[in-house]
Amino acid sequence: MDDASPQVVPISKFPHFDAVVLGAGISGLVAASVLAKQGERTLVIDDYEHVGGNHMDWTSRDGYTFDVGSLIFQDDSPLLRHFPELLPHYLPIAPTWGRLNPQRKITEYPISVRDDILAAGPIGLMRISFSVLYARLFCKKMGNARDFARYWIGDYLLRRSGLETYMKRFYGIAPEKIDLDLARKRMGWISEHASIGTLIKKLMRSRMAAGPANRQLARPRQGFAILYDAAVERLTSAGVSLRLSAGTRKIERTNDGFEITLDGGVVLTRRVISTIPIPALERLCGLPAQTALNTITLISLYFSFAGERGFSQSIIYNFSHDGAWKRLTVYSDFYGRVNGREYFAVEVIAGDHVSSVDQGEEDFRRHTQANGLFNGDLVLEGSQVLESAYPIYSKGAAQHAAQAIEALRAFGIESIGRQGGFNYQPTARVSTIEVEAALGKN
Ligand SMILES: Cc1cc2nc3c(=O)[nH]c(=O)nc-3n(C[C@H](O)[C@H](O)[C@H](O)COP(=O)(O)OP(=O)(O)OC[C@H]3O[C@@H](n4cnc5c(N)ncnc54)[C@H](O)[C@@H]3O)c2cc1C
Repeated sequence: MDDASPQVVPISKFPHFDAVVLGAGISGLVAASVLAKQGERTLVIDDYEHVGGNHMDWTSRDGYTFDVGSLIFQDDSPLLRHFPELLPHYLPIAPTWGRLNPQRKITEYPISVRDDILAAGPIGLMRISFSVLYARLFCKKMGNARDFARYWIGDYLLRRSGLETYMKRFYGIAPEKIDLDLARKRMGWISEHASIGTLIKKLMRSRMAAGPANRQLARPRQGFAILYDAAVERLTSAGVSLRLSAGTRKIERTNDGFEITLDGGVVLTRRVISTIPIPALERLCGLPAQTALNTITLISLYFSFAGERGFSQSIIYNFSHDGAWKRLTVYSDFYGRVNGREYFAVEVIAGDHVSSVDQGEEDFRRHTQANGLFNGDLVLEGSQVLESAYPIYSKGAAQHAAQAIEALRAFGIESIGRQGGFNYQPTARVSTIEVEAALGKN
């Protein structure tokens, strides 16, 4: 490790910190920003060699830059209050979303009145109406995410629209096994879209709501490094130290804090705030794993393409009943073609059917061909595999995570963020707000 790099603190010179933040993802960076403003002498440690956590990119020799899927931000994000210098690096975009439905049609996301409801024909319409009525009258008692979705759109539409299949694909388990609280928190859009008022508005083709007040932004074309270098510069000028590729080995209690052993030496600190996965932290502290906290492994496939892709939207969700891929994002719509070719990333949740890049590619090619997509020259340029991408919210997982976080608190460590809080944080905005709330400052 090069100790002359601005992102590396020579530990022997500054062994003692007020606070050490584990993890240099969004949660870790925001935590360091808050602590620096509170006057704490802070060190950020990460085992990765890059800052930004799961904001990971990959560039091919031909100049295509891809990422694992976390690329859309907004200009009113509270993250920009901490790091205003990020804003000029983002690219303003006007993304459009679509979805492949089980009837093999690319249509509106998340639901289309025309293609999912009216296209069902008179008998289908009757079945949709009866099943919604039945669910609203007799299925008020809910125990899981499927019950929640069924109450709002009925059994028939749940299946016909592909939402049930998508939920399984997204959460990695059958919707019957998904925690109800998560469904209420994260799937509020179903109740919104299924309210009678909204449906009438849609049928009358009136606008659902005024357009968003904020601007949508994409990461810079060349990847995340330029963004987070700017954030690191702000933090270091505020007195924060960073150690990447830290090789964190263990964390021990001392009389007045903690001793953290890294590949390059030992640091002492009064306080530890962790944003790394809970099981990794338990291991570092020598604590027994409270319980298995399962997470999703995400396989990202990076393709270039020349030909007829078969849709116009930039982002497509797979709601069809087969195919392991979950979502694809066409980067060339935002950044322009490379060598005259379009390029896009495909997210696949690793599972029973697909557990490797080769299987994911084979499955994607077969499925898109069967659905009339990507007719032409499709080349796999590369791939990445991200472990601990999302928490799996099986029933009881939230309580297990709460117990583990409580045990870590009893050991003296605050565990927060997407990984540290075992918290499904859908956006960097949410991660920022939750860290600010946990550390008590805006
Ligand atoms: C596929 C995907 C798509 C997304 N899309 C968007 C999007 O378009 N827009 C948006 O705003 N948000 C998006 N998000 C959400 C957003 O990325 C997260 O909310 C945010 O990045 C969470 O940051 P974090 O710091 O809590 O976690 P992470 O980014 O996971 O950071 C955790 C850090 O801990 C480190 N770590 C792990 N183990 C150790 C260890 N043993 N020792 C030290 N360090 C360790 C890791 O290296 C990592 O840096 C997406 C997320 C995913 C997974």
